[in-house]
Amino acid sequence: MLALGSAATPAPSRAIHESLEVLAQIREYGRVVHLQWTPSHCGVKGNEEADRLAKAGALKAQPDPPQSLHTAKRQIAAAIACRTKERLVAASAGKDWESLMAEDGQISQTLPRRMSVALFRMLTGHDYLQKHLNRLRIVDSPMCPLCSQGEMDARHLMECAALEGVNGSTPEETACERYWAARRLMQSRTGVG
Ligand SMILES: [Zn+2]
Repeated sequence: MLALGSAATPAPSRAIHESLEVLAQIREYGRVVHLQWTPSHCGVKGNEEADRLAKAGALKAQPDPPQSLHTAKRQIAAAIACRTKERLVAASAGKDWESLMAEDGQISQTLPRRMSVALFRMLTGHDYLQKHLNRLRIVDSPMCPLCSQGEMDARHLMECAALEGVNGSTPEETACERYWAARRLMQSRTGVG
C-alpha cells in the first residue's frame, strides 16, 4: 500500500503497476479512491469478507507467472539449500557425530575447525579414508590399512583395533579424534593421503 501511495517507487512490481492502472481508470470515471490501512480480524465488515475471498482465492490453482532470472536463481538456491539440509540430517541420523549438528540440521558454525572439517568429511563421504580413496582409484583396496579388519569408512573408525586407545570425552569427540588419528597413521604408514 505504501508503494501504491508513493509515485516515486523506483521499480514497481507488476502487481503494483496493474493496481495503479486500475486506480487511474476508476479515477477517470470520476470516482475518488481513498486507500486506508485496516486492522484485520477484528470484525470490520468488508475486511472480513475480503479476507474470506483471499483465502478462497489462495485455494484455487495458481497460474505460473513469468519470473525474472534473478528470482528463479534465488528460488533454485533456496531449494538446493533445503535439500542439502535434508540430506545432511538424514546422513547423520544415528551416527556418533549426530549431536554435532546444529538444531537446524546444519553443521554448527561454532565447532572448532578440526572438528567441523572432520564432521563435514565424514558426513559427505569425501573423507579420504581407504574406502573413499579406493572409490577414487587411488588405492587398490578399500580395506583398513591399520587393522585389515574391514572396509575403512567413518563407521569403521569406531571399531578399528588400531584406534582403540584414541578417545575423547564424548562419543562425538572420539569420532573426531579417531578420524584425525586415522588420517595421520595412513599418511605415515602408506604415504597416501
Ligand atoms: Zn581398522
